[in-house]
Amino acid sequence: MRKATISVFGLAVILIIAIAAFNSLQINASIKDKDEPASVTVQSNKPPVVENTTPPPDQDAEPPHVEQPSPEPDDGVKNDSNSKSENVTADSGQLVVEPATAAPESIAALVNKQYALPEDYEPSDLVYPDVDFTFDEKIDKRKLRKVAADALEEMFEAAKEDGIFLAGVSGYRSHDTQKALFNRYVKKDGLENARRYSAEPGHSEHQTGLAIDVSGSNGKCAAQDCFAGTKEAEWLEKHAAEYGFIIRYPKEKESITGYKYEPWHLRYIGVELALSITSQGITLEEYYNAAVPVSNE
Ligand SMILES: [Zn+2]
Repeated sequence: MRKATISVFGLAVILIIAIAAFNSLQINASIKDKDEPASVTVQSNKPPVVENTTPPPDQDAEPPHVEQPSPEPDDGVKNDSNSKSENVTADSGQLVVEPATAAPESIAALVNKQYALPEDYEPSDLVYPDVDFTFDEKIDKRKLRKVAADALEEMFEAAKEDGIFLAGVSGYRSHDTQKALFNRYVKKDGLENARRYSAEPGHSEHQTGLAIDVSGSNGKCAAQDCFAGTKEAEWLEKHAAEYGFIIRYPKEKESITGYKYEPWHLRYIGVELALSITSQGITLEEYYNAAVPVSNE
């Protein structure tokens, strides 16, 4: 009888020690995760939760992704900004945010300072849109994915009819090219400044093949602040959504997108979604309720 009591007591002690050890292991692990934002393994069933705490200086986070399971249009697409942050499914159930690594080719993919594309992602359907560019060479940055290229051709044609002559400045950009570009900007302006206008490798929308910088056909103010307020910029602001493009980094949304106003940077997301977002005056982040925590400055 006494023997039994002792061994039960002994078991209980061992159990308590084991639990304590397990807890401390977990705490250690979570501390370590914070210090090492470079590991970007994706938890497949975790939606992108936006933290209110100060993020690490490096915005390297889990790349999510967006899928459009049923693209047929109806009026169901709308912003669900009232919902909780873990609910990233639109009310209609049409749009679901998923890790980018699962479907980097999704038309409505969310790529920003928080969510990256896989390093080796290269769209499989890049083509040369039949529109003017500010340069003549047949190089990568002249390419877009087929669906975006078709929409761009249509949009430039419509602009022409309104007396607005547009030209492409920069479309697709590979991971390696973005890396070289970003490093160049960092050298020139320093890391913090470079981050305000250039994406770190893997975090550029240009790698999706769905984004393009656009200017007037004379190339004046191409991808520069002075493009704002030009008749070309105004036309784009008014009409881009009709062709499935959004002004991805709108005025006064830097705290949400992480980028200063870029009236020239268009992102193809499909007509339905573009019209919805533009008419609401929101960003893609707000649409998915996944604002980028901006830590700099
Ligand atoms: Zn751009």
